[in-house]
Amino acid sequence: MSNILDVRNLATGYGDLRVVWDVSFTVQAGEVLALLGRNGAGKTTVLRAITGLNRLHAGRIEFDGHDLGRTPPYKRIAQGIGIVQENKRLIGDLTVEENLRLGAHVRRWRRSALTSRLDWAYDMFPALADRRGTTAAMLSGGQQQMLAIAQALMPEPRLLLVDEPSAGLAPAIVGDVLSSLARLSETGMAIVLVEQSVDFALALASHVVVIDLGRVVLAAPADDRDELRAQVRDAYLALV
Ligand code: ATP
Repeated sequence: MSNILDVRNLATGYGDLRVVWDVSFTVQAGEVLALLGRNGAGKTTVLRAITGLNRLHAGRIEFDGHDLGRTPPYKRIAQGIGIVQENKRLIGDLTVEENLRLGAHVRRWRRSALTSRLDWAYDMFPALADRRGTTAAMLSGGQQQMLAIAQALMPEPRLLLVDEPSAGLAPAIVGDVLSSLARLSETGMAIVLVEQSVDFALALASHVVVIDLGRVVLAAPADDRDELRAQVRDAYLALV
């Protein structure tokens, strides 16, 4: 199968400040790549480079076999890259449905296409269907996370980048977020998951990349989860 995402020898950062030195990985349809590493390792910066928010210092990012080059972020979203940022880009004063419509904006759909995508989102996240007229600010943390994911899914991306979906959520809710991401990956969605929680990541991952100081320190498939958990633990311990 061909790669949806191919990140090759990525170097990037903020202006001239380089924080990612050499990161490579690929993701195919239906795969979940877990990008792990301690605070400040460069995980969010890698996601920002894929989204086009940070410029490349070196290397190459291909989406669907095409070099993304200097394609601006809004075009990447329209081409099929969805992002769920850690500080959820929801508008608190708008309702659930208004936030979802905003997510679909880049597609400039007619009413019927928009309605059927809204139906899809409510089907995928039934808790949102019950609250479609509620303002986002009134939702629980878990519901806001679901809405942020649903919003990113509105334009029908083929690749979803998710930054720390378990952050700040109660353990009971984390399970709900996990199962919705698992359902998505079963539909063929390619997912890059950035996580602090190794257990959350390993529950979903088809392969794992651990980075530190902007470089890959472990890349492994998740064929044997216990073995991989031990490898990730060893990689983390080696950093201390
Ligand atoms: P965390 O889990 O803490 O978000 P992370 O692995 O996602 O960690 P990044 O957010 O990618 O790490 O940060 C990587 C490095 O880049 C850190 O040293 C951080 O201080 C630095 N950094 C992040 N944002 C900026 C910025 N806007 N300007 C300059 N440096 C930044």
